[in-house]
Amino acid sequence: MVRVGNLGHMTIPPLVDPAPDLTTEERARYARHILLPDIGAEGQRRLKNARVLVVGAGGLGSPALLYLAAAGVGTIGVVDDDVVDASNLQRQVVHGTGDVGRPKTESAAETVASVNPLVHVVRHDLRLDSSNALDVIRDYDVVLDGTDNFPTRYLVNDACVLLGKPHVWGSIYRFDGQVSVWFAGHGPCYRCVFTEPPPPGSVPSCATGGVLGVLCAAIGSVQVAETIKLIVGQGDPLVGRLLVHDSLRQSWDTLRIARNPACPLCGDHPTITELVDYEAFCGLTDTATDGVPGTESAAGVAGAQAGFGEVSAQQLADMLDARERGERAFELVDVRDDGELQVVSVPGARAIHLEEFRAGTALGKLPDGIPVVVMCKSGVRSAEAAGLLARAGRSDVHNLTGGVLAWVRDVDPSLPVY
Ligand SMILES: [Zn+2]
Repeated sequence: MVRVGNLGHMTIPPLVDPAPDLTTEERARYARHILLPDIGAEGQRRLKNARVLVVGAGGLGSPALLYLAAAGVGTIGVVDDDVVDASNLQRQVVHGTGDVGRPKTESAAETVASVNPLVHVVRHDLRLDSSNALDVIRDYDVVLDGTDNFPTRYLVNDACVLLGKPHVWGSIYRFDGQVSVWFAGHGPCYRCVFTEPPPPGSVPSCATGGVLGVLCAAIGSVQVAETIKLIVGQGDPLVGRLLVHDSLRQSWDTLRIARNPACPLCGDHPTITELVDYEAFCGLTDTATDGVPGTESAAGVAGAQAGFGEVSAQQLADMLDARERGERAFELVDVRDDGELQVVSVPGARAIHLEEFRAGTALGKLPDGIPVVVMCKSGVRSAEAAGLLARAGRSDVHNLTGGVLAWVRDVDPSLPVY
């Protein structure tokens, strides 16, 4: 069956050839798909033959894995090097309470097997990087990207373009989500539209800004719908379109996006012909936008250049003890948002939002003549605040290296993290 879309709409041939046949058990299980004229037995045989790689068994990966499995996608790869944390359970529905502490790929594979034992799960217990991404992705027909950090997004995009594969991308933050299908040769790639990564720490992640759990289902399920459409070759894929969802307004808008002829990857004169160092490209020594503590020595060097020092969590604990005894005076300032402070905070810290440092109003709220220690979740945003204070002429400013995460890890492991 060939359906010609409306003028200007995208039609792409099916990505996957049909499997030879369906068993009686499969015909019964997938009957509601087979009844659909646009899928039918042939489309279901394509799904059976399909190999889909899900990058990240987190918020977006969770609903994606459940629905890919239920839909009968024959081989589902799942990439993740993380373990299930209690703070994941609010949205990562492929994992249960009993899975806390287990590898996410193990937990996800078990859930997928319980949803549909007819599909095959391939676990990739690793973090995708330039050394392994091509080898991992090469075996799949399409990649569903559910990652939450910029280095991996650019890495997945570049690997898919170099391998000629489409990738179905989703992004969520607080109440907002976005989806697109990047497919060089048919439309833009991620780099065509997002030409430069944001400066490290400038864009908050769900780990610091929060996310409505059920938003993951809305965005992840759209990603699965797009993946199925590509596999069976039906409908108008979100190639060259950006779907933008606002769950507070409950609006779904699509924006036209175009291939950039000057794209360094898929443009007319590409300069990127192999994978690069994506941490360096994104200006990170670690995935700081995810709230993971940065390399301490690198933080110290950066801080010294910006005119402030660093203190460790243990040093801060000693300073707070001395302040408690009246032997030392200093101000501890937490620059995080209110919601973050409600999850976990260091006793004795005072809240002044990062925005106040950026606006220049924080300086007037700080007492003169005593040292200031600033902190955030991982040390990235507070380093910005410390740099702003130093540039405003304030001396004796220190940043808490590794932020509240380091405090919990090194001083009080009984506290929750997020
Ligand atoms: Zn491009």
